[in-house]
Amino acid sequence: MTRWLSIQEAINKERGDVAIRGWVWRERGSNALKFIVIRDSSSIIQCVIEKDKVPEDMWLAADKLRIEASVEIEGTIKEDKRAPTGFEVSVKKLQVIGESDNFPIAKDQSPEFLLDNRHLWLRSRKMTAILKIRSTYVQAREEFFRKEGFYKFDPPILQPNQSEGGSTLFEVKYYKDKTFLSQSWQLYAEAAVFALEKVYDFAPTFRAELSKTSRHLSEFWMAEMEAAWWNLKDVSEFAKKEIKYCLSAVLAKHEKDLIFLGQDAEKLKKVLAKDWPTIKYREAIKILKEKEGMDVSFGKDLRTIEEDALMNHFDTPIVVTHYPKEIMAFYKPADAQHPDEALCFDMLAPEGYGEIVGGSQRDTDIDALKESLEKMGEKPENYEWYLDLRKYGSVPHSGYGLGTERVLAWICHLDNIKDAIAFPRTALRWKP
Ligand code: ATP
Ligand code: MG
Repeated sequence: MTRWLSIQEAINKERGDVAIRGWVWRERGSNALKFIVIRDSSSIIQCVIEKDKVPEDMWLAADKLRIEASVEIEGTIKEDKRAPTGFEVSVKKLQVIGESDNFPIAKDQSPEFLLDNRHLWLRSRKMTAILKIRSTYVQAREEFFRKEGFYKFDPPILQPNQSEGGSTLFEVKYYKDKTFLSQSWQLYAEAAVFALEKVYDFAPTFRAELSKTSRHLSEFWMAEMEAAWWNLKDVSEFAKKEIKYCLSAVLAKHEKDLIFLGQDAEKLKKVLAKDWPTIKYREAIKILKEKEGMDVSFGKDLRTIEEDALMNHFDTPIVVTHYPKEIMAFYKPADAQHPDEALCFDMLAPEGYGEIVGGSQRDTDIDALKESLEKMGEKPENYEWYLDLRKYGSVPHSGYGLGTERVLAWICHLDNIKDAIAFPRTALRWKP
């Protein structure tokens, strides 16, 4: 039986007979010599077919090969400095598995065209590199939480309530009733911590984001955690530890992919080695005033332009805590010492990537919760099950949500969050 090698394994072998399979990435040739570059998930390699050295039917098949045809190749590999990955296979046997004609994606196509053809564009080296990094990132995060003694907890995706503001809810017809797609697992995680104490998840999350920005998707994968007995400091420091763990796994395995994506891997290593500062919202608005001449009065949320201006003064992610209580979600408690501040935090990434994590301690005061719900125009009776959690042995607890695509956009140095997910959904796009 043929022992198929991945292209990378063939390259690692350096010389001798190899059998590889993949797709035609580039092809060119003359009437005597044909060069085809084959790609698989591991790498690319140049293969050369000489008319004089192969049977005629094989030469004809090779001559007909077009971009993205799938092939099996047996031949001899050797070093060749001129070839794109430094090695070349001299082909002895070629089998066309699936023909391809007029692959629609050629050079210099617009981002919208590539998004319309996302099902094919996934094969590009760019998307392949990003998707590999994403896979490693997600796996590292699983490892991290398991090592830290957390349980994976699966929340419902169809939910009766909002947790993050009614304006971004997706309504779903539910038999004769209606429900909403999950905006966060949080309220359910708060139920789970009374059983499991430390929980995490990785789940699709839906927000009808009407402001079209390069940071917002309508469907994204939120990576959340919740822990009983933990306070604001515990969770905000833990968020740094989590991201550092995952970043270090990506750097260990994907330096080449990062460089291919235009990221400076050395810079990321420095970011990893540094301490990531924590400042209060009040300090952040002071920096904005003194160093950027921007007036943000206490009580205003930081918008994208302010977050970006603030991050001009940091080259690592930072944590900003104690945002004004009145603009925060209903479950974020006031700081007993400074009742106008909430025990909450955001983590902001450098270089204009914006907020990557949002979290807080959770309010345990049932009356304060009811009051905040009413202030937002919600009926506390719709949250009865959630308020129950405060009636039976409530304990302090905290958690956060991390936007996987936001973090990946930063790590991979992407222009747009849409490239951090295979099939992006936004206000304007839900196909293919
Ligand atoms: P933003 O102000 O940027 O809209 P948010 O305050 O609504 O963010 P949270 O509710 O705190 O965000 O959600 C937790 C994390 O989920 C955010 O820090 C971010 O990383 C991610 N996130 C939120 N909304 C989106 C979205 N529409 N697309 C992608 N990621 C998102
Ligand atoms: Mg939002």
